[in-house]
Amino acid sequence: MAEEKINKVTIIGSGPAGYTAAIYAARANLEPVVFAGGPTLEHPQRVPGGQLMVTTDVENYPGFPEAITGPELMERFQKQAERFGTVIHMENVVKVDFSSRPFLLESESGLRVRSETVIISTGATAKWLGVKGEDTYKNRGVSACATCDGAFFKNQEVLVVGGGDTAMEEATYLAKIVKHVTLIHRRDSLRASKVMQERALNNPKISFLWNSAVEEVQGDAKGMSGAVVRNLKTGDSQLLKATGLFVAIGHTPNTELFQGILETHQGGYLKTVPGSTRTNIPGVFACGDVQDSYYRQAITAAGTGCMAAIDAERWLIEHGE
Ligand code: NAP
Repeated sequence: MAEEKINKVTIIGSGPAGYTAAIYAARANLEPVVFAGGPTLEHPQRVPGGQLMVTTDVENYPGFPEAITGPELMERFQKQAERFGTVIHMENVVKVDFSSRPFLLESESGLRVRSETVIISTGATAKWLGVKGEDTYKNRGVSACATCDGAFFKNQEVLVVGGGDTAMEEATYLAKIVKHVTLIHRRDSLRASKVMQERALNNPKISFLWNSAVEEVQGDAKGMSGAVVRNLKTGDSQLLKATGLFVAIGHTPNTELFQGILETHQGGYLKTVPGSTRTNIPGVFACGDVQDSYYRQAITAAGTGCMAAIDAERWLIEHGE
């Protein structure tokens, strides 16, 4: 087991929130250490860099008038954090002990780190439908990431579920690759922003099935072959032939590590003192999507990452560090 170290600031998570916290903490000479995370058995699609790593063009991040891809944006965040001396471990923290200071963190490789403050920016993970056949055909047709898996469905029929921005984005992205996209939504109006709605609604390769829900995913040894979809108004079911099903129905905050340790809201999002990033444990701060069920934008995550670094810095000063 590696030797224990005492950091001033340790950041768990490497999306816009975590890397912004790192940039600010590093420029304040706090020598931050980031645990960037990565895939786990339960969450094979988790990647360092967070959700922007599975996004195509980001058109609303200020400073990039021509748009920038999610992965390219995150690479820039990482480089900027490293430029000021941030140490980055490309692995997950698997255990935390916040019962006394300095706090103790343990990584999956057995690295044990002591830290005066901790900033949590573990983000959120895509939700699944929980219907019959979904698990069976995961990675054999069923996916929650069009940018990761879309290329496997060239000239094929695919389904997308959801009525938010993610569903519109996935459908629009897939329409460039596949033969046809059927977007299935449980209501008759979309939650997505107007511009994203219109892009999908006006795309001739995307058709919409309203008031409908996927009941079952079907397939054979080769993979998914279709889905049973029920009209929630009439109760009628039909079998839609498709080799892909992209689930885009929102996210769950990544807070398993802090269950029973930190206070959460209903839905599991970490509670912070309004107007700050302070959690119920002094010296532990939370930023980004893990504590934000409402805005959930890269720019708001980055903003709260900045707040967390400033909160941690002031906390260290107040505590004579
Ligand atoms: P979301 O806005 O929460 O939308 C989730 C959608 O899935 C809703 O339409 C919801 O239906 C539906 N849904 C939820 N549970 C379901 C279930 N069990 N079965 C069937 N349908 C279900 O999530 P999101 O689209 O992932 O977006 C999250 C946030 O990220 C938003 O703030 C969004 O603006 C942002 N975002 C922005 C961009 C961008 O600007 N480029 C891209 C992606 C996401 P109801 O409408 O009936 O509730």
